[in-house]
Amino acid sequence: MIQDSFETMNLALEMILIFDTSGRIMFGNTRAQKLLEYDQLEDLQIQEIFPDILVTEDGDFTWKESEQDLGSEQNAYRKNKTCFSVLARISKVNSEGQRLYICMAVDNTIQNYFAHRAQMADEQNQSAQQMKSQFVATVTHELRTPVNGILGNVQTLMGMENDPAKQGLLALMERGCRDMHAIINNILDFSKLDAGKLELDEKEFVLRDLMDYIKSNHINKITDKGLGFFMNISPEVPEKVIGDELRIGQVLNNFLSNATKFTATGKIMVEVVKTAQMGDRVELFFMVMDTGIGISKENQDKLFKSFSQVDSSTFRKYGGTGLGLSICKQLVEMMGGNVHVESEENKGSVFSFHIWIKVPTEEGEVLDTDMHAYQVQIPTMDMLEDTSKSMQYGTEENREELQKKLSKLILCIEMKNWEKAEMFMEGIRQLTNEAPREIKSLSLRLKMSVQKEDYEKALEAYNLFAESLEKGESIE
Ligand code: ADP
Repeated sequence: MIQDSFETMNLALEMILIFDTSGRIMFGNTRAQKLLEYDQLEDLQIQEIFPDILVTEDGDFTWKESEQDLGSEQNAYRKNKTCFSVLARISKVNSEGQRLYICMAVDNTIQNYFAHRAQMADEQNQSAQQMKSQFVATVTHELRTPVNGILGNVQTLMGMENDPAKQGLLALMERGCRDMHAIINNILDFSKLDAGKLELDEKEFVLRDLMDYIKSNHINKITDKGLGFFMNISPEVPEKVIGDELRIGQVLNNFLSNATKFTATGKIMVEVVKTAQMGDRVELFFMVMDTGIGISKENQDKLFKSFSQVDSSTFRKYGGTGLGLSICKQLVEMMGGNVHVESEENKGSVFSFHIWIKVPTEEGEVLDTDMHAYQVQIPTMDMLEDTSKSMQYGTEENREELQKKLSKLILCIEMKNWEKAEMFMEGIRQLTNEAPREIKSLSLRLKMSVQKEDYEKALEAYNLFAESLEKGESIE
């Protein structure tokens, strides 16, 4: 029966060798002859082709190592005693009362070659990754030193300079250095996190002092923009905690500087609440709320990914690398917590996070374990509702807010402080978003002359805009 199949076997792409219980080859198909470079395989011993083949106690043939799903990886020897790798299987058959063995084998050289290439590529990739992390760490360290040097010198020059024009230029240089400094620090943190090399430094500190420091970092910019600022630390929040003060501060600073950056009217609120306690560990909840431009639902998903800014115009308008929030997320997760965002376009955003943190204990002190005692008000956009009234054109709140912004704007135009003028203009644009077409086009004209830093045109556009606002109000 087997004999009848020889012709079919000669068409096979696999090598097929049939041998008897003594190991004598009775048939080798055309493929086997070709690959093994024999004119005839019959009457050879199977061990000449596969020296690693074994005979079991029962007289069966097998490989030294057991077969895997795809067969056993073996070396097949050619007539000239060179060898190549194959995947081979042995099956036992009974043919007309005779016990025979069929060995089928496929050339494995190409698969091995690709597997080897893949392994090499993987190794190269890993070492390139390490080199990249090392390179980023070295370059950012090297950049930090000259930037700090320039910053220090610019600040000294600012103290010595009386000429307002030169003061203005020095202020721009100082801002540039600060921005560079922040970007360098972000890249350094990002590469450390990427390489798993960032560690938390936990020490005892006074939480309220940290919150005061955070406030002092941002309050000037917030009030300069004419925004309100409120901070509330609820009384159950412990005085002293043990944690990484620097990293908690970094997350809060990032949230607050974004809130300030993306808010032109209204207010910024910060809230710290204790939400649970387990022995000497407490869960703290931090929220930063703003009444700024907000973020659409689909963009909220992108927020915590690296290098992600809501759209490319954000970079042109507000700067930044889009790394800040991704770093915050990873830092908060290292502290056993999570970050959350709630936001609505043109209404505002609530960024919050919770962390588990230790509290120092006096010897013998018994601590509560209470997972539900503290009711937290989960951040919702309702908290920002009252401010959104000022966004509705024509309301009393809107009128008041517009007046405030306009008086600040004219002051900036008079002083030719164009950077600040643009900031107030952004607020005015938002406050008149729902205004009649004529007012909106006058506000656009004013905005353009402010952007062009054209004093005469800005003054003219301001007067026209203020007049038409008054007229609009008297018509109402
Ligand atoms: P960047 O360093 O560029 O500010 P972040 O990771 O801190 O990067 O923020 C990423 C993006 O998320 C910002 O560019 C902005 O588009 C959006 N975003 C963050 N916070 C706010 C906010 N409070 N209001 C509106 N948009 C925000």
